[in-house]
Amino acid sequence: MDTILSLANDAQNIWKQTTLHQRILLLPKLSEVLLENKIDYATIITQEMRKPITQSIAEIEKCALLCSYYYENAEDFLATESIKTEASESFITYEPLGVILGIMPWNFPFWQVFRFAVPTIVAGNTVVVKHASNVSKCAELIESIFEKAGFPRGCYQNLPISSNKVANVIANPIIKAISLTGSEQAGMAVATEAGKQLKKCVLELGGNNAFIVLEDANVEKAVAIAVNARMQNAGQSCIAAKRFLLHEKIVEDFITQFKIAIQNLKTGNPLEITTQIGSLARIDLAEELEVQVQKSIAMGAKLILGGNRKEAFYEPTILTEVSTEMPVFKEETFGPVAAIITFKTVEEAIALSNKSEFGLGVSIFTQNIAAIKAQIPAFNEGAVFINEMVKSDPRLPFGGIKKSGYGRELAEDGIKEFVNVKTVVIN
Ligand code: NAP
Repeated sequence: MDTILSLANDAQNIWKQTTLHQRILLLPKLSEVLLENKIDYATIITQEMRKPITQSIAEIEKCALLCSYYYENAEDFLATESIKTEASESFITYEPLGVILGIMPWNFPFWQVFRFAVPTIVAGNTVVVKHASNVSKCAELIESIFEKAGFPRGCYQNLPISSNKVANVIANPIIKAISLTGSEQAGMAVATEAGKQLKKCVLELGGNNAFIVLEDANVEKAVAIAVNARMQNAGQSCIAAKRFLLHEKIVEDFITQFKIAIQNLKTGNPLEITTQIGSLARIDLAEELEVQVQKSIAMGAKLILGGNRKEAFYEPTILTEVSTEMPVFKEETFGPVAAIITFKTVEEAIALSNKSEFGLGVSIFTQNIAAIKAQIPAFNEGAVFINEMVKSDPRLPFGGIKKSGYGRELAEDGIKEFVNVKTVVIN
């Protein structure tokens, strides 16, 4: 650990003296390495965490897109800004902070890391990344990809430690700030240690997004998007739709179509390109999901599809007659389980949507855009998507409120999280 941290520190002392222009010139190569090797890299993702191969390939492509995005925009985002005051000259510069620690999850083992590391390194920092313990090959591979793309040694390093060593790393004076993507529990542990050391942290934590379908929605379109929003990555996504709030007038129609669409998903070997849904990343995750479903059924939820587990494979599942006290409503379900609850009015739907400790995002389906736009402030979320599933996009800031964490990744906000906003006044 000490060797890795001092190399990161030495590298940063040199890296910060390069110009932003010199740094972004490495991004096209990074993107090229990703795209040239996408099948090999995707295969490793799938072998390690069992995501269907087509989704692993899409993940690599998205990382390449992120590189192109910051290649095109980083210089604008971090340009010195002149501010008019009484002084003869006043301006703001954006300078790197130093060595930043990333703590990352396994569910999008490339994307989560790239969306943290690329803007952070481009801003002049170096990074050390403690990746999730079940994706150690991806973790090593990512370090080698940065090297292959020509980033100087020490700009990006894998830090293969267990989570009980993280507090020591946070306490090390070389580390200047922390970015964690993971569970609420990890968030609290990391924020506590960062607080003790007075170090900044960005937290991207869990979510329990509502997927709301209003009476006037195009149900067919909503169903097609709902399947992807819930079942992508076998439901193991922070921004997946987890609670389905359906207007009582369309609920039957929605459920009929939703059930058929889910039954049509092709399960199987995740390395086959035809597979659309595979098993969860680990058996314990499937077991945990099973408990949440079983407890909810015992409390009165009705199982209308799925509900069985075979080792790490959990059948795509639909529960109706869900109430707000049940685990499938209150807790984050990290797997292919859709919890359905009905409502009569938009106000009721908003109240149900907000009845969550999390605040990552919400999707609302309606044809009356003007009416729902007027309600946007009522949703306590980091993102509101209308007639679309919540998804990340390099061009848009991403992050949550409440127990979904704080800070933002991606876009201009993301690249400005780990910089010193330096005020300069000259008289
Ligand atoms: P996790 O168990 O919290 O692990 C995430 C990372 O934190 C791993 O590297 C893990 O290391 C580490 N970690 C765990 N406990 C820690 C602790 N006490 N101190 C320091 N580090 C600790 O989460 P996960 O199961 O990998 O991922 C699923 C969770 O991440 C879900 O809640 C999901 O919603 C959330 N997530 C959020 C976003 C977002 O952008 N908001 C994106 C993706 C996922 P080990 O693997 O060694 O334990």
